[in-house]
Amino acid sequence: MSDPNCIFCKIAAKQIPSTIVHEDEHVVAFKDIAPQAPVHLIIIPREHFAGLNELTETNAVALSRVGLVAKSLAERFGLEKSGWRLVANCGSDAGQTVFHLHFHLLGGAPMGGRMV
Ligand code: 5GP
Ligand code: ZN
Repeated sequence: MSDPNCIFCKIAAKQIPSTIVHEDEHVVAFKDIAPQAPVHLIIIPREHFAGLNELTETNAVALSRVGLVAKSLAERFGLEKSGWRLVANCGSDAGQTVFHLHFHLLGGAPMGGRMV
């Protein structure tokens, strides 16, 4: 299912341009438009749901699929040894701005501070 008003559904459907770095039947990954690290990728399930609050037994498989794509992209972008971070914002306190479940894959330089 996709949402005609969702920007990430439109990116996955190639209705709006982006730099796609991975796509398969279930998952799409593309470069973030406003990168916060030398490597900043967004990884999404093709299926539209707003975020982690909407996770169910049925759609939870999206998390493992995204995780496997993240691992493979981290290798492809040379982050395997230096390290990388996978982050999902959920809701307003976390700063979520796009309400299609997505994970940020960040790496390529030491990350300042200790969020976690
Ligand atoms: P959030 O704040 O919801 O966790 O992350 C949304 C991310 O999507 C932000 O890092 C933002 O830069 C990125 N983003 C928003 N709109 C677009 C877009 O049209 N194209 C791409 N490639 N990234 C986008
Ligand atoms: Zn969507």
